[in-house]
Amino acid sequence: NCIFFYSFQSKTREAFVTLATTESYCKGATVVGKSLRRHGTTRETVVMVTPNISEATRTSLWRAFDRVVLVDALDSGDGVRLALLGRPELGVTFTKIHCWTLTEYSKGVFLDADTLVLCNVDELFDREELSAAPDPGWPDCFNSGVFVFRPSLETHGRLVEHALRQGSFDGGDQGLLNSFFSRWSVENIDRHLPFVYNLSSSSLYSYRPAFTRFGHDAKIVHFLGSVKPWNQSRGGSGSDFLSLWWDEYQREAGRSQEPAAAAAVEA
Ligand code: UDP
Ligand code: MN
Repeated sequence: NCIFFYSFQSKTREAFVTLATTESYCKGATVVGKSLRRHGTTRETVVMVTPNISEATRTSLWRAFDRVVLVDALDSGDGVRLALLGRPELGVTFTKIHCWTLTEYSKGVFLDADTLVLCNVDELFDREELSAAPDPGWPDCFNSGVFVFRPSLETHGRLVEHALRQGSFDGGDQGLLNSFFSRWSVENIDRHLPFVYNLSSSSLYSYRPAFTRFGHDAKIVHFLGSVKPWNQSRGGSGSDFLSLWWDEYQREAGRSQEPAAAAAVEA
């Protein structure tokens, strides 16, 4: 009985996973971890970081996450290493798909470091791989800022192979994942997450009536694009989501981070 219970438990370990390869993206990752916890997730929280991230930053991430996992974009074998030498733009993409190697979990929900969780979203674990919300710029593609996946070394290997053979049509992980999970838009509506799980902050401007009607249901906000919240001042654009991001960033940061350390983080 106990053994059965134990194996049942261990097989159902699930985690939210994010990624930060620069000190600035670590600011965003901190907000992801804090917002997940504050809304009472029952799942583990994991941040993947690359070796260039400072010891001090890793320590502050460790306060916001259950685990800080060190990953190396070039650790997938010599073939990958060699191929990447000529394709440096795929580096961050490879680091993101590293989440498939976290096989201690039976399921994961990846969140970009530029997302903000507004309520408990544990129900995402009821979904199967690959579930994601439509991209606002091209809705037949999913946006890869929020997705449900099933860790598997086999899938990881196939993703690496796919990337090396076909590259990525947009140079990033979203192009790669969309060409790999190419049936997403037509196959199974259960794999389509409602847009409120990956609400781009720009939707406010691109379809304001829909935003007015549905925006209050927002569950995860995604600050996609080149201007990230940590590069904007709180009052700058007057966006409510931006102030919510800063609220979350500053909620405990003042106490748990030395001001000097925070100031030393790259802009
Ligand atoms: N990322 C990173 N370092 C980088 C660029 C991206 O760690 O230099 C990670 C981070 O988790 C980020 C995700 O990859 O959220 C995707 O990049 P980004 O959010 O900038 O793309 P966008 O959502 O704007 O298309
Ligand atoms: Mn993003």
